[in-house]
Amino acid sequence: MMSFFDEMASTISAAGKQTYRAAKEASEIGKLRWKISEEDRKLKHRFARFGVLCYASAKDGSERDLSEEIAEIDAQKQKLADLKVRLSELKNEKKCPNCGSTSAFEDAFCRKCGTAFEAENEEV
Ligand SMILES: [Zn+2]
Repeated sequence: MMSFFDEMASTISAAGKQTYRAAKEASEIGKLRWKISEEDRKLKHRFARFGVLCYASAKDGSERDLSEEIAEIDAQKQKLADLKVRLSELKNEKKCPNCGSTSAFEDAFCRKCGTAFEAENEEV
């Protein structure tokens, strides 16, 4: 049979685990924010480089193939979008596909425009 002290000890350790989990999530969010700003910086860098290439080819009238740069930019944009989705999930939010505003993850409809969210795979 569990003594009073055993019970108290297990309650305290459960609370500790909860705090640990919250702290871990907070640090995940922090890491993700940092990663997003880093990837955003890379994207801006790619755009700047793209601008320079466009300028150069427009100036000398040369036909430059920029498809590789465009593909790189698109991949970078996708990477950034994925990270932002991940951040929303961690923050327990989701983005409206219609207006782009943020609602709580459990909401069935957008808080701003009322668009119905598609039923997702619920994690219970
Ligand atoms: Zn909306």
